[in-house]
Order: sequence, then C-alpha cells, then structure tokens
Amino acid sequence: MPQQTPPADATPADATPAGRPEIEIRDLHKSFGDNHVLRGIDLDVAPGEVVCVIGPSGSGKSTLLRCVNLLEEPSRGTVHVGGTELTDPDVDIDAVRRRIGMVFQQFNLFPHVDVTGNLTLPQRRVLGRDKARAAEVARENLDRVGLADKAGAFPAQLSGGQQQRVAIARALSMGPEVMLFDEPTSALDPELVGEVLSVMRLLAGEGMTMMVVTHEMSFAREVADRVVFMDGGVIVEQGPAAQVITRPAHERTRNFLDRIL
Ligand code: ADP
Ligand code: MG
Repeated sequence: MPQQTPPADATPADATPAGRPEIEIRDLHKSFGDNHVLRGIDLDVAPGEVVCVIGPSGSGKSTLLRCVNLLEEPSRGTVHVGGTELTDPDVDIDAVRRRIGMVFQQFNLFPHVDVTGNLTLPQRRVLGRDKARAAEVARENLDRVGLADKAGAFPAQLSGGQQQRVAIARALSMGPEVMLFDEPTSALDPELVGEVLSVMRLLAGEGMTMMVVTHEMSFAREVADRVVFMDGGVIVEQGPAAQVITRPAHERTRNFLDRIL
C-alpha cells in the first residue's frame, strides 16, 4: 500500500498515531432488514492516502462511506478513524463526525443563507466558534476553493459546480482529518465537473486523507493512490489505479469498466 507523508503544515492537531491507518475497516457488514448490503469489507486508508471506490450502482459504495461517518450503524465489524473506534457503543458520535468531512452528490447547502452563512453556521453550532473566528475560517476556505468573491451570494445564484465547491469549503471549515466524497460530480453538467475535481486534486496534494466514490476514471487514474472495485457488497479487487483500471484481474471489474469507459 502506498504510504504518503502529508506536508507538516497539513497534519491535524489530533493526527493519527504514527504507523496506524487513518481509516481502518474490519469485517464490516451492513444489512437493511434482510438486504445484506455490505458483506465483510476490510480496508485501510493511510494518512494522506487517496482511495477511489468504484463499482456498479447498488454495490454498497454509499453505504460504506456512510458507515465510516456513522450516518449508518454497522451491523457487524469495526471502523476506526484516527485511532478512535467508531463502532464502540460509548463513542462520542458528534466528536467523531467533526473529524470527518462528507460531500454528497446533492450539495445540501442551506438555501436561505448566503455562502458565508453556510460556512459559519456549522462552525458556530457544532464547534462553538465565535462569529469573527468562524468568518475568518470561512474566508480562508472560500479562497481555497476559488470562491472568495461569492461570499455574499445565495446558493441559487451559483452554478452547480460553484455550489459543490461551497459544500467542500463548508466541510473543510470544520477542520476534518478525513474527507469522504460520494459521487461529488455526478449531479453536475459536464462542463462543471472539472472545477470540482480541481479542488479535490488540490486537497489531495495538500495531504488530505480521502475516500472518493466516483465514476471519473481520469481523476482516479491521476489522483488516486489506490482504486477499490466493489460489487455485491464486497471488495472484488484493489490496487494502483493503473493496475485496476487498465489491467483488471477480475471478470466483474472488466465488465464494469467496459460499461462505463
Ligand atoms: P451504491 O452507492 O453502490 O449505488 P448503496 O450503498 O446506495 O449502493 O445501496 C446498496 C443497497 O443498499 C441498495 O440495495 C439500496 O437499496 C440499499 N440501501 C441503501 N441505503 C438504504 C437504507 N437507508 N434503507 C434501506 N436500504 C438501503
Ligand atoms: Mg451511491
């Protein structure tokens, strides 16, 4: 597994103990009623690593990400993030979630507040930051995603690509150790995909630990340290992008890639 050392200035204060994966998933199962969706997932993500998860619709990709920030409760197995066991019944769920940023296909911005408000409200409510500090962090992160000039705009005044960049800046404003992306460009018109991928590429370059569910194979090839192919609730194969995408070992992977490439 490729181990990347993030730049010193990107290391969060409560960084993972040296040598431990940032995300550690063991024998993860998730059922909805009698629908056994995740069937034993084992996956480690090293600090600073970018893992792209690919696979057909219904294979459990979203459920996997949602188990990593406890939007879903695993039925069996363990998930550790930054050395903390999320699956421990006594875990402080809110404290864990603060360390994990999530970006969805639908941007989920608050429609009735401006961009600055979208970035400052969660910081104030969840982190208890004062207004001035929250606004400062908001400015820094809008700058990071190239939207410093849109601070006063409302979501409806922005393109889909801009809205998704605001959603990323909002997640970053919480100071996460890990970022999870669930098909962040799937709802966008094709000409707006590139600007969102550019921001994600930037984050990867800064040493952010990322799990990205995506169908953007060129992004996976260029940015992912590892590509994981899921089907039927299991990891069928994983490895460097060049290997999994260009020379897949499994028939199921080849069939999937033939359909989307
Ligand atoms: P993917 O993201 O790979 O398309 P999902 O993780 O969204 O797959 O879904 C995998 C399966 O889990 C599907 O059969 C879906 O219907 C089911 N599923 C996902 N979320 C729920 C839920 N909250 N309640 C019931 N079934 C769910
Ligand atoms: Mg999904």
